[in-house]
Amino acid sequence: MKREFTSQRAQFYQDVPDDKWNDWRWQLSNRLNTVQELANVLELSDSEKEALGAKNLFRVDITPYFASLIDPNDPHDPVRRQVVPTAAELAPFTAMMEDSLAEDAHSPVPGLVHRYPDRVLMLITTQCATYCRYCTRSRIVGDPTATFSRKDFDAQIAYLEKTPQVRDVLLSGGDPFVLAPKLLDEILGRLRAIPHIEILRIGSRVPVFMPMRVTSELCDMLAKYHPLWLNIHVNHPNEITQELAAACDRLTRAGIPLGNQSVLLAGVNDCPHIQRQLVQDFARAHLRLRRTHLCRGCARRRRQNSRDAAVSNQFERSQSCAAQF
Ligand code: SF4
Repeated sequence: MKREFTSQRAQFYQDVPDDKWNDWRWQLSNRLNTVQELANVLELSDSEKEALGAKNLFRVDITPYFASLIDPNDPHDPVRRQVVPTAAELAPFTAMMEDSLAEDAHSPVPGLVHRYPDRVLMLITTQCATYCRYCTRSRIVGDPTATFSRKDFDAQIAYLEKTPQVRDVLLSGGDPFVLAPKLLDEILGRLRAIPHIEILRIGSRVPVFMPMRVTSELCDMLAKYHPLWLNIHVNHPNEITQELAAACDRLTRAGIPLGNQSVLLAGVNDCPHIQRQLVQDFARAHLRLRRTHLCRGCARRRRQNSRDAAVSNQFERSQSCAAQF
């Protein structure tokens, strides 16, 4: 039977006026990051309290909207496991690598990764709306004192102007949609003015963490820069809400093709039934499954390769009745 998308707001936020709740700036300013703030919304375990009280942990910030998708009494909730740290995160692990994708080795200028001849990854911010515990780029993401400056953008764009083999630019970070709207507009405009750049792509998890950011103004601004593709990042069906579906609807009406990139995460979505549900829900939310990554960011969430392969094989077998593209 078709699963209805829901709209949820944690009990703690029931009295917040709708105009505030639906304002992305309010969501950003009221993110949860301390034991006290999270305890207003969730029943915290000792392990979570220990991690939240620790220093030098990868940054914690969760929008009230996304925290409201968590079952407050379920320590294994799949949304919770993606964003609430536990004490396991404090321990180093085998094969821990800061830069597991070797991005720094392929950066001709800060923030620009040129690994393949015709495409580049352009990192334009180190900030996100909410921080995922498995983040591959945790070496640079989340540091409030380190972000890319106008000088860095100038250097990135100057490199692209003199590199005609690049035809495809993927903007990422961090999350490009937390940038000041005018700055994002300016960067997209400067890239679009480079004749050999054919395609612009943006990778963002903001529509999932804070769908109210997908305003008609944002859609109008993005629509100036076609062809522009957007890949969002949903890992579990519980993240597909009425609000996210409505945000995807606004984006597709602005002519922006949408894809989804998931990460295969232990205890979150490493199950063929969940993967099938995800693909079916994507189809109803205007999303196309682009790819599922293996987790490289964090051992606690990483599955053994054999387990990844088993899930993948079962998923393919279970696909006969799932949405196919
Ligand atoms: S949204 Fe992306 S860049 Fe930001 S913490 Fe999550 S995985 Fe990392």
